[in-house]
Parts: sequence; C-alpha cells; structure tokens
Amino acid sequence: MTARQILVTSALPYANGAIHLGHLVEYIQTDIWVRFQKMRGHECWYVCADDTHGTPIMLRAEKEGIAPEALIARVHGEHSRDFAGFHVAFDHYGSTNSEENRFYAEDIYLKLKTAGLIEVRSIEQHYDPVKQMFLPDRFIKGECPKCGAKDQYGDSCESCGAAYAPTELKNPYSAVSGATPELRSSDHYFFKLSDPRCQDFLRRWTREPGRLQTEAANKMQEWLGTEGEQKLSDWDISRDAPYFGFEIPGAPGKYFYVWHDAPIGYMGSFKSLCAQRGLDFDAYWQKDSRAELYHFIGKDILYFHSLFWPAELEHAGYRTPTSVFAHGFLTVDGAKMSKSRGTFITAESYLQQGLNPEWLRYYFAAKLNGTLEDLDLNLDDFVARVNSDLIGKYVNIASRAAGFIAKRFNGRLFHASHNHLRDTFDRDLPLREAAEEIAGHYEARDYGRALRRVMALADLVNQFVDKHQPWQMAKNVEHEETLHYVCTALINAFRLLTLYLKPVLPHLAKRAEEFLNIAPLSWADAGYVLPADHPINPYEHLMGRIDPKQIEALVAANRESLAPVSEPSPQRHAQHQQNTEDKMQEQTHISIDDFAKIDLRVARIANAEHVDGADKLLRLTLDLGSLGTRQVFAGIKSAYDPATLVGRLTVMVANLAPRKMKFGLSEGMVLAASDDGGDVPGLFILSPDSGAAPGMKVK
Ligand SMILES: [Zn+2]
Repeated sequence: MTARQILVTSALPYANGAIHLGHLVEYIQTDIWVRFQKMRGHECWYVCADDTHGTPIMLRAEKEGIAPEALIARVHGEHSRDFAGFHVAFDHYGSTNSEENRFYAEDIYLKLKTAGLIEVRSIEQHYDPVKQMFLPDRFIKGECPKCGAKDQYGDSCESCGAAYAPTELKNPYSAVSGATPELRSSDHYFFKLSDPRCQDFLRRWTREPGRLQTEAANKMQEWLGTEGEQKLSDWDISRDAPYFGFEIPGAPGKYFYVWHDAPIGYMGSFKSLCAQRGLDFDAYWQKDSRAELYHFIGKDILYFHSLFWPAELEHAGYRTPTSVFAHGFLTVDGAKMSKSRGTFITAESYLQQGLNPEWLRYYFAAKLNGTLEDLDLNLDDFVARVNSDLIGKYVNIASRAAGFIAKRFNGRLFHASHNHLRDTFDRDLPLREAAEEIAGHYEARDYGRALRRVMALADLVNQFVDKHQPWQMAKNVEHEETLHYVCTALINAFRLLTLYLKPVLPHLAKRAEEFLNIAPLSWADAGYVLPADHPINPYEHLMGRIDPKQIEALVAANRESLAPVSEPSPQRHAQHQQNTEDKMQEQTHISIDDFAKIDLRVARIANAEHVDGADKLLRLTLDLGSLGTRQVFAGIKSAYDPATLVGRLTVMVANLAPRKMKFGLSEGMVLAASDDGGDVPGLFILSPDSGAAPGMKVK
C-alpha cells in the first residue's frame, strides 16, 4: 500500500459563540476519519481555524467594549479548550484573521480579477444613519410585504414564509440602532459566478465521480440547471466600512465579505502548519497536486463549498477539493436542540458535568453513516448503548482475563510458539480477518457499520468466554494450561477490538496500550498477535458506566437559565456566519405590546433552601401578596447562601409557563443579572427600592 498525502478540514466555527454538541458531530466525524488515515500509515493533516470576520463579531466586540481582536482571541481559547476536551486533534487550529489568510484572500482575489471574473457594480442598500453603516439583511426588520406581519427580518418572513429583498420591507428599521434606514448606493465587488466559464466548469466538476455525495450532487444539478441554462448569479464578495475583516487591495473602505476569506482560511491554516512542520504547501495546493483534499461540512453550507469555492480555486489556478463530505444536523430526543428543554448542550457543560467525552464520540460514531441524514442523540439510547457496547461487551473482556493472568501466570501470556498461538487464536476467534472490511467502512465514513461489525466480534469473544467459563477452569489445577490459553486469547481479542475502536476512542486506546504493554497500535498491527510470554501490566479500570442521573443533571444544568433576555436566541445547529447573525436578535427591538406580555411582579422570598442532588439550584418560596405563593427553582446556588435570601424582595416573571423539573414544579423565574460570557463572575438578583410590596406589578 502506498502512503497517500491527505489534507482534511472541518468547517470553521464562527468566533462568536460556544461550541455545542451540534458542532461536535462534525469535528468528531472528521477527527475519527483523520485518526483512521493516520493509523493506516498515510500522511494526513487536519487543519481548521476560527472564522473571525464580519459584522456580528464587530458589533459583539463593541457591545462588550473590547477590540474585535480581543474577542476573537478569547473565543479561540474557549474553542481550543472544548475541542481538546473531546480529543479532537487538529494538526493546526488557526484563525482567519491571520497574515497567511490575508495573503491568500488577496492572492485569489487578484488572480480572479486578472482572469476577468471580478466586476464592480453599484447597488442600493439599507444604511443606518445613526450607526453610520450599511446593514446586512439580518440587521433590518420591518413588516412583511406579503402578509404584513411585524418585526420580520430583511430576507424572509417567519410568519408566512415569504422570501423577499430587504428593500421590499414596509416600515423598515435598523436592528442595531432602531433608526429608519435610508437607501444608499455603493460600489460592490462581485465574483462573476454567472460567467459561462464558471457555470461550465461547475457543471462538469459537480458530476465528477467522488466529488459530492449523491444527494448533494442532485442538489447542485438543481442549482446549476441543465446545459445552456444560466441559473447562477454573481456573488457579492465586498462589504463597506465599518467592517471587521481584510480591506480589498486597491479599494479603500471596501472589505472582503467574511464568506470570501472563510474557506480560504483552510489554506491560511495549512500554510501556518507548513511553516511549523517544514511541509511543502504547493504539493497540496498547486493545480496538478496529487495530494487529496477533503472538506467535512454541514449540509447548510454546501452551496459555498460546492459552487463558490471550487469555482474560485479553479479560476485562481489552484487545485479543487477531491471531495466535499456533508453531514446532517443533530437532533436531541428527536427534536431540534432547545434551551427550554435543556437539550441545547454546550461542549463545556458536558465536560463540566464529568461526562466522559468518549461516550459521546462512540455514540455519534455509531450513528454516523456518511450521508446527509440528520443524527439523533436519544438520551436514553445513549446511556443504554454506551453501557451495553463499551462496558458490557468490550471493556469487560480485558477485566475478565487480566486478573487470572496477573494472579496465576505472573502477568505473562501463554508460552506456545507464535505461529501456533496465532493459528489457534484465528480458529477460535476470527477477529483478524475483519481488519480490511472494517477499514473499508471507516474509509467510507460509514462508522455505524464499522462499529456494528466490531460489536459483532465482541459478541463472539463473549460467547467464547461463556463457553469456556474461565472462572470454573480456575477451580481445577488440571485446567491450568487451558485457562492460560483462554485468557491469552481474550487479551489478544481485546487488543484487536481496541485497534478497531481506536479512531473513535483514542484516549481509552492509549490506556489499553499501556495495560497491554505495547507500542501505539496502527492498522497493520492486525497482522499479528501478541508474542508468547508477552508480559502485560496490571489492569486498571478503563471506563465507567453512564449513570442515567448524570444525564438528568446535564439536561437540568442546561435548562437552568436565569436571564433569558440576555441570552442568544435559539441557535441553529450549524455554525456559520449566516446562522450566527441570528444571535444579533438579542439586540433587536420589541414592541411595547411584546413587553406587556411579561407579567413582572415584586415577590418576597418567604423561604429559600438547598435542593438535594442539585448542583446549581435553590428552591425558593415566593410570596406574591394577594396572588398567593409560588415555588421557583433558581440557579443561584453558587452565588447565595439561602439563609441570606429569606425576607428579601426581588422581581419575578409571574406568567412563565410552569415547568416540571426533576425536583418538582417551577412556577416562574426570578430575575438576576450576570455578565453573560464576560469577565465579571457571579449572579446578582434584582431588588426593588424600599416601599415596594409583594404582588406589585413591574413595568
Ligand atoms: Zn409574511
């Protein structure tokens, strides 16, 4: 087998929010594939970066009173920590706000310009006269031109579903300042995707075998139309100042749109890796490169990666991706992740709850099949499957055999000749012969099928245990030799199962290798069994079972939100610019009618107490005067001693739908302030001025 040169990327997470389990589907999927390729002996590099440019980053930094560079540096640290926590092992994790990336963003732009594929055109756009900036579609709101619904975004109506241009909105206002926008014209730079050269190239490229999954290729045919049709429009790649990004060479006050330099970030990040490792950048990116290039992405950004990106690369004189691998979205218990249900789970909270990251890696892998289908994290099934497969079937093999080897055989394996050991092992437990089949499933990203095959092998091993019953053999000294052989076969089987699971469970595999007293396993090691007399180390507990209570606590921790007004809006699962712009909803305006829907009342804290088994919650009994009393669970345990709260006045949301929690019914919410995501620690509940009485309305 000749070693391949492979460059792999995951989509760049936007530097404006936390990594959550939805993101992790992609990074875990990619990481498994990369680890597999490395185990196969290929030269495989995995690069990624934070996507750092654009209006949402600029405004968020401004809101926090810091420079955008400070914001993206902080988020880079958080993202790096979360990825490392889930054993996602990038060879380089960079930033699109790097000099390497600026170089390639300009380089590609200038080459496209030379090729006659850049055009300057004046367009009319909404301009915020107060904020003095042009407004992206998502930052304009108004009444739907079709149905008249209020407070709709500039691109589509959430009420009737109509799509329109922002200029069609009635009574538009700026979501940034509230001002009425003016229409102003400005010069924009377009990449001429409608040029016949681009359309002809893409029609050919998207049909080439292996480039796209069938479902994705069909989607592309829809977008491209048939031969002779001109369905693609030019792509606006510039934005006016003020903008956080790279200024376009020769165009003062004009910046590259974040989506222009985001995919180029793959090149920028790889360039940094080349400098660190002394790799040849051109060998991977020049037009006739024989290296392979793969992009793992969510299906929502297929358009960018299968149309704009290859067309730009092709016409700027670079190689195009070998394949684009799109995946579906994550649902939890069959529904979109939801903050109110506690299923919008961040990577950080999962790890903070003490859950093992490899449980999730295994579960995601078991459900991934290389298609664009959505993947469901069913929390009950998660517990059942991990406990049954990883603990019940796999880890137990080692623990069952290790004790006998240590106590009865001085920690050494059976002493027959190597060939004899191998042949009897292959006869009793035909695990080695599955190596290439399992490799094929990993290569095809059908991890679900790979793991089903591995678990079927684990079943065989457990049947072998049941057949020989080593604990019975151990009672009779005549069976000493057989017992030694059986335990040796089990250790060899455990080694092979570890090898097959290693791309998914890298940390567990490392500890298993220490136990087995062997060098790090590569795929070629399936060609051997452990030598006769091989000494192994004492067995140490490799992985625990999931306690369903841990999952309940995880969901409760993600459900406990005190200050929903300052939280980002419910996020979509994917991680990209257009979706993260949604987060700016937190800055948008609501009408007085919307505000009046919230029944805020002064409440007296009649009682406050700890809740058994809850890390964050206090149980509050709130006196609302003539409105009676309410029980509320508030996530303020970290900030308040319950005794100090009793008798205090505070403010509560009295008409929040009651929520059934593990500990009882919560009938409202107490208001508290926190520096959400910022540097100031702590929580601060609100108090009215003296004179206010329980039950008074707050407005
Ligand atoms: Zn409408």
